[in-house]
Amino acid sequence: MMKSRAGPPLLELLAATDALKLQVQEAQTTVEALTRENQALTKRLGAFSAGNSAHDDTFVTTNAAAAICDHCGTEVPKANYQMHYARCVRMNKRCEICGQVLPTSDLPKHVADLQSDTATLLRAAEKGDIETLDRLLAHGMDVKVQAEDPARSAALHACAKGESLCTVHFLLSRGADVNQRNAFGETALHVAVASKARSAAMVSYLLNRGADPLVTNSLGDSPYALAMRHGDYTVTLLFTKSQTLPSGRGCARPRSASSLRPKPPS
Ligand SMILES: [Zn+2]
Ligand SMILES: [Zn+2]
Repeated sequence: MMKSRAGPPLLELLAATDALKLQVQEAQTTVEALTRENQALTKRLGAFSAGNSAHDDTFVTTNAAAAICDHCGTEVPKANYQMHYARCVRMNKRCEICGQVLPTSDLPKHVADLQSDTATLLRAAEKGDIETLDRLLAHGMDVKVQAEDPARSAALHACAKGESLCTVHFLLSRGADVNQRNAFGETALHVAVASKARSAAMVSYLLNRGADPLVTNSLGDSPYALAMRHGDYTVTLLFTKSQTLPSGRGCARPRSASSLRPKPPS
């Protein structure tokens, strides 16, 4: 006797619902990332509008006795305006990238400092501070630069610890390498799977953007192997659905997550 065929099992329905939720979240992420990037660009643009308006002797006054300098944007007594302006234009220069007005001799240092401030880059990536990231990258910071610490992580690693998909989107759109490895051979996907947040949305996002689930770290563990070990059902399911995942490969021997960290020098 044939059994009548039941509907899809509950687990499959739940998984399909989860997948749809992740898709919606990714679409929202793209919109949010573009909105925040737009805000950052608008802010940078705003710094220019005052400086680029031609100096035509019309003062923007905040009170009867003061005027705003067209060049540097500071408030000066109206009586001193012409003298201040002439000196200001001679001594100060506007950074063509962020619009900040600085003494001309400080400008090269201003750009060089922002280009090399790796610590701020990683902190901003971890916090999801797109405005700061935009500012640093616009001044010539390399999005793939690695921290000067034993882990040698890049901004994308720092970002993958948390849950800001927007920031991942932003960094990838600015040329970050989704499979860049740190000193331990870890990619952002290793970090996302092993992080406290262990956000399924983050893992899904990285996988969909070409993160390799099978690349092994220096201990021989792939992100897939770490996901299996941590036993998070939703995250593991994302891996088993990943089209780049052949069966069996990448499941290295069990190892505790803490052993991924290097031993302190003795
Ligand atoms: Zn001025
Ligand atoms: Zn600048």
